[in-house]
Amino acid sequence: MKTIALIAHDGKKADILQFANDNRKALSKCRLIATRTTGKLMKEKLGLKVKCYMSGPMGGDAEIAALVANKKVHAVIFITDPLDAHPHDPDIHGLMRVCNVHNIPLATNIATAQFIISNEGLFSDEDMME
Ligand code: PGA
Repeated sequence: MKTIALIAHDGKKADILQFANDNRKALSKCRLIATRTTGKLMKEKLGLKVKCYMSGPMGGDAEIAALVANKKVHAVIFITDPLDAHPHDPDIHGLMRVCNVHNIPLATNIATAQFIISNEGLFSDEDMME
């Protein structure tokens, strides 16, 4: 089973919710992990099963980065808000960096997230640790 991380900044939570609703069938076949507020929304509004980590500003992005570095995540959907400032900017960049270090698909906008979820079958299982 593929593991997908879902994260959205506050200004993009409505967008990720709409994306998850539109792709509910594909997402429900994956193991979903998320930062706290994003995951809570997925559970409460859409009834998806999601394992929640800490909220992004409290270290959740860093927790997910550690999972990526340990090859436990197949793709990261991290819908960032480019029009807002974030106190946890270093963690945001850290998560993106480990995705790039380990060649893990990373979407930072909905258009790319749609490409990723539509091609979920193409993700490599190589080196992934369950
Ligand atoms: P949140 O964290 O899902 O807890 O809001 C996301 C973030 O701001 O990185």
